[in-house]
Amino acid sequence: MFVLCDAMGEEDAILNHSPQSLTPEEFLDLCQKAQAEVLPRFAHFSEVALHNTKKVLGAFQTHRLSDAHFAGTTGYGYDDTGRDTLDRIYADVFGAQDALVRMQMVSGTHALACALFAVVEPGQTLVSATGAPYDTLQGVIGNGKETPGSLCKLGVKYREVALTPDGRPDEAAIEAAVQAPDVGAVFLQRSRGYSDRQALSMGDLARLIARIKAVNPDVHVLVDNCYGEFVETREPCDVGADLIAGSLIKNPGGGLALTGGYIAGKHLLVERAAARLTAPGIGRHAGASLGQTRAMMQGLFLAPHTVSQALMTATFCASLLQKLGFEVDPLPLSERFDIIQRIRFGAPEPLLRFCQGVQAASPVDSFAVPEPWDMPGYEDPVVMAAGTFVQGGSLELSCDAPMRAPYDAFLQGGLTFEAGRLAIESAARSLLL
Ligand SMILES: *Cc1c(COP(=O)(O)O)cnc(C)c1O
Repeated sequence: MFVLCDAMGEEDAILNHSPQSLTPEEFLDLCQKAQAEVLPRFAHFSEVALHNTKKVLGAFQTHRLSDAHFAGTTGYGYDDTGRDTLDRIYADVFGAQDALVRMQMVSGTHALACALFAVVEPGQTLVSATGAPYDTLQGVIGNGKETPGSLCKLGVKYREVALTPDGRPDEAAIEAAVQAPDVGAVFLQRSRGYSDRQALSMGDLARLIARIKAVNPDVHVLVDNCYGEFVETREPCDVGADLIAGSLIKNPGGGLALTGGYIAGKHLLVERAAARLTAPGIGRHAGASLGQTRAMMQGLFLAPHTVSQALMTATFCASLLQKLGFEVDPLPLSERFDIIQRIRFGAPEPLLRFCQGVQAASPVDSFAVPEPWDMPGYEDPVVMAAGTFVQGGSLELSCDAPMRAPYDAFLQGGLTFEAGRLAIESAARSLLL
């Protein structure tokens, strides 16, 4: 017999029903219903995956991917044809003139930092048009702080346009902010990140970019593409973005890339980012691939499918946890524009319990008990459930939560829907005593 634990029933009234008990059979039945209700969404995810797989295969064929590309280089990595072919394949897949895909980018933050330094110069203004950027980028920008090496420290000015109260871009305020002639770049974040906002659809991005360019045609639009890749059939450069960046241990690595990041967009901007990544004058021409090209290629091959599995996992999670009385966003049947699922726990106790339940159901480190810790680059202690094959790999099922009110958990990933569903079920069961 499971009984919803006390911590959830308290004054916050998180549950819209009073604590109840569920037999194991009733719980299983609830899980079946949770899945049955979202099957139309699953069919949609499969269609998007089909379209995106076709796009990826087309790029492999156009650029004549072959076994020789997997050999890799060492040392300086000059004339690494596999690496250079991967760049061209990414450019095609992301609708861009050019791309840079490198294991030397240590994370998404690093890729985005290289991209940010490529789009603005000292004396110019960077406008973040989707509110505060992701936590780790605040150090890169260095607004109001003396962070060594940050954009602001080097003389870039920074402005932020807050989102509207319902978490949407404030289009009129953005137009006003980008009008000034010293605005060099506008930064947009596609996914919700660790926040209460909504992810941007490609339709949203197309309209927003068109409005920005109408007001100031010279401005470079940079999109933080983390967690958005392959969720729709178009990507930001298809709708006018000048540069995008993201992490290979998220969507486009397909769960196989062991590390790395990518940047794609206008040729000139990609070249500038490459100069920042290695050194001016060296740029993209050095950087050994150390035998990792095969995993990056194969990961990209799998990515559209794996993203569909992650979307199914998130959707199932929304459906089940809503049935258990929690507020979830997106709703089970809503359209999705990134792979992130927010679940509002309202108190630290059930949140920790859920994250620990996800960890316990993971393939790796299932015996570990995640606790909140002060992660570099984040403002509040963060608890992370990540029983992953790749450290921090978050196209693998993972659940992160900054320990701050209203105690939202952000769940993402799931290499297979089967393992994702099993983990959600057992984490949900751990909310019941
Ligand atoms: C993950 C993420 C980043 C940073 O990526 P790391 O690989 O964690 O450095 C930046 N922006 C968004 C929206 C993200 O989700």
